[in-house]
Amino acid sequence: MNYDLIVIGSGPAGYVAAIRAGQTGLKTLVIDKKYIGGMCLNWGCIPTKSILESAKLFKRMKTGAAEFGIEGFKPEELQFNWLQAVKRSTGIVQKLSRGIEYLWKKNGVEFLSAEAKLLSPNEVEANKLIYTAKNILIATGSKPAKLSELPKAIELEEFLSLAELPEKPILYGRGAIIVEYAQFFAMLGKTPTIIASDLPLVPKLDAYLEAFIIKKLKKDKVKVIPASGIMVKGDSIYFEDKQIEHDAIINCSLREAVLPASEIDLELAEGYLATDEFYRTNIASIFAMGDVNGKSYLAHAASAQGLSVINFIQGSQEADESVYPINIYSDPEMAQIGFTEAELKTKGIEYQSREFSLNANGKALAEGTAEGFIRLLFETKYHQVLGVQIVAANATDLIAEAGILLELEGTVYDLAKTVHAHPTIAEVFMDVASI
Ligand SMILES: Cc1cc2nc3c(=O)[nH]c(=O)nc-3n(C[C@H](O)[C@H](O)[C@H](O)COP(=O)(O)OP(=O)(O)OC[C@H]3O[C@@H](n4cnc5c(N)ncnc54)[C@H](O)[C@@H]3O)c2cc1C
Repeated sequence: MNYDLIVIGSGPAGYVAAIRAGQTGLKTLVIDKKYIGGMCLNWGCIPTKSILESAKLFKRMKTGAAEFGIEGFKPEELQFNWLQAVKRSTGIVQKLSRGIEYLWKKNGVEFLSAEAKLLSPNEVEANKLIYTAKNILIATGSKPAKLSELPKAIELEEFLSLAELPEKPILYGRGAIIVEYAQFFAMLGKTPTIIASDLPLVPKLDAYLEAFIIKKLKKDKVKVIPASGIMVKGDSIYFEDKQIEHDAIINCSLREAVLPASEIDLELAEGYLATDEFYRTNIASIFAMGDVNGKSYLAHAASAQGLSVINFIQGSQEADESVYPINIYSDPEMAQIGFTEAELKTKGIEYQSREFSLNANGKALAEGTAEGFIRLLFETKYHQVLGVQIVAANATDLIAEAGILLELEGTVYDLAKTVHAHPTIAEVFMDVASI
């Protein structure tokens, strides 16, 4: 069976690349050993955001409904139905999964449910059959590193299958995910403890946002303990001679590459598939994109890389390595794009920072979501904006405006003269640019 392209892995790197490949006329086969949509759709981005929304609604009804004039129920009697929250999430996942299948079909992409093994630069084995292609795309993703230092932990893929939620979970690891899980439990009135494998808690984040997170977790009564300070004896874990009470450990460790079985030597860099600026491996016909190449651990970065690979195969030389936003779906949400202060200092760029609180914004006050700010980092000569950080209930959407601003090399003046509708939380962009 001959193809132009075989894509191994159907996460956001693989499925997006396959759709574009089909659109551009490449005869394409996608192979996945588990579910369509990969980690992102089945256990990651979508299910976590869905259950977080359930938790946010629960907290809002429990603690904020009366202030909004909503009565007729006793907040203390509200209960969280975990299985229903998961059922809702599963429905969303199924809908999106059907959407991917539809787009594949529409663009002539074939799908095979099997584990793929690389046999040669142009051959893949799956279900004991050999498939050939001019190009092979490896998009096999990543998984959290196994925890060797702690008693048995729940893996993220197992979390949604829990019959009931733990009351005092330990969350071990680092990254945006650990903050989201900690707040998920805290919003439901449970007592999570973070054992941070290292600091900063969220790598790549500006120190200003990291400080906000630590303060916010403290306010939410989430303890953050350094892993270097813990002692493990059997199933018990101690910090400063005090036992950390827990009924579950959830593995939120930083991730490592999932490599497909291979009979050819693919070069690795620190455990990830080594690639050049066009995501080519050391074998010219084989590309690696998404988490498996270790350049990023974000779904939108994986998809952007997938699109770049197809553009490259189809003759465009440009690989778009433009700035990727980092989103944290916390309460309130946080988002960042462009350079951090530390990066600007390392690059020797003279810059200024400016911040405007949401506290004076009409829509934020009306919605009861006035905790937060928009912060700009811009160079001093032309006032071109080089970094944006947002804390706001809808920060993960607001960051798109900053993305366009950075993409178009916009200045503080461009932002100030852009009329924003009133009342919107986005008006804070205009405010912060106008001070
Ligand atoms: C809990 C959680 C929440 C997250 N939330 C966000 C978020 O909000 N925003 C965000 O941007 N990112 C988020 N992420 C990260 C995001 O999920 C990943 O960056 C993204 O899924 C990476 O995409 P990928 O295509 O590289 O790999 P994956 O999505 O991991 O897909 C890889 C696919 O390859 C398949 N595969 C592996 N080996 C083989 C083989 N040998 N043969 C056939 N198939 C194979 C797997 O079955 C899988 O389907 C989250 C991650 C987690 C764990």
